[in-house]
Amino acid sequence: PHSEVINFSPGPTSLPKAVEERIAGVFNQPGLTSLALSHRAPEFLEILDHAVMKAREVMEIPDDYDVLFTHGGGHGQFAALPLNLCHDQSDVATYVVNGTWSTRGVDEAKRYCQVHSIDGRDPKTGDFTHFPELTEENIDPNSKYVYLCSNETVNGIELHRLPKLPESLKHIPLVVDASSDFSTKPIDWHGSGVGVLFACASKNIGHPGLTMTVIRKDLLGEGKASPLCPGVFNYTTNSEAGNLWNTPATFNIEVVGFVMDWIEAQGGVYEIELRSIAKAVAIYDVIDSSNGFYGTPIENKALRSRMNVPFNIKGGDEEATNAFLIASWEKGMIGLRTLTPFGVGDYLRASLYNGVTVEEAQKLADFMRKFAAKHG
Ligand code: PMP
Repeated sequence: PHSEVINFSPGPTSLPKAVEERIAGVFNQPGLTSLALSHRAPEFLEILDHAVMKAREVMEIPDDYDVLFTHGGGHGQFAALPLNLCHDQSDVATYVVNGTWSTRGVDEAKRYCQVHSIDGRDPKTGDFTHFPELTEENIDPNSKYVYLCSNETVNGIELHRLPKLPESLKHIPLVVDASSDFSTKPIDWHGSGVGVLFACASKNIGHPGLTMTVIRKDLLGEGKASPLCPGVFNYTTNSEAGNLWNTPATFNIEVVGFVMDWIEAQGGVYEIELRSIAKAVAIYDVIDSSNGFYGTPIENKALRSRMNVPFNIKGGDEEATNAFLIASWEKGMIGLRTLTPFGVGDYLRASLYNGVTVEEAQKLADFMRKFAAKHG
């Protein structure tokens, strides 16, 4: 049961306890759940409208953007973006590549458009621990869009605010993969020139099987997408059909509505941001003050992700790492062992999404401090 487990998984992961209880409540009531209702039934339309309306309110999504619930996860959007924003394969898009997920985004986009990529590795080490400056020199001025990932889940790098494109290139829409940080900080939609922002649900806002895609309406329209774009991926088709072109992930949409209600009840996205900062600071404080017992690849504090904190133990020492994993598991802390791309040593990762409370992050921090005192 959730009460005995603290889930630090990078996703899918646990949702806030109050949301999980609300979900359980749905199943404990008589009548049909959104899993069994027709997606065109008025009862489901209400659920859908609620999820969209609350997401708009909580994330301050302006009226000139549409909210779509899309299929195919983050990877679906990796393909959907060039298929919608590039009319044919000769169109160019600029991609900032500074981690695992932006790399995957490029791999998929290359099938559908010309990718101009900005190498976002640290110029000195060659590691993905860096975010490059966006300049007139490194952005192709003919780009249909400029793409970036605002939180590189695996690498542990986050843009706490979206960057602005250089003045002369401001007309190019910014495309953001916010899969692992959406709903944990405000977004300046117009100010940052966001054209499309997407987030797979299974980290902060729901369950796998659903992705939220927010798109500026001027990017929609007949004939804009590639003629090869499948209907389920076509933003215009799905927008015109009000998210009902085909059967959407009904239950998952209801859950997003619950999460948005929860965020509102906590005090909104600004409060969630403060909690996210507090959670990450708790873990990073232990790492930084451990005299090298714990290590982090992210030296630049301004880029440290609040969502995913990679750390190693005694430089990746296998025995100490295993002892740490067993002892933390005995305390109900799970999800810390994950695959990471950093070559040397064995990095663990604490993911601190909406389902993890500040107190739970502090519990991990206390555990880490005690473990270091015992094994240092
Ligand atoms: N982008 C980011 C930033 C992610 O963290 C993930 C999932 N870990 C994805 C994309 C891929 O999402 P999916 O597995 O839903 O395709």
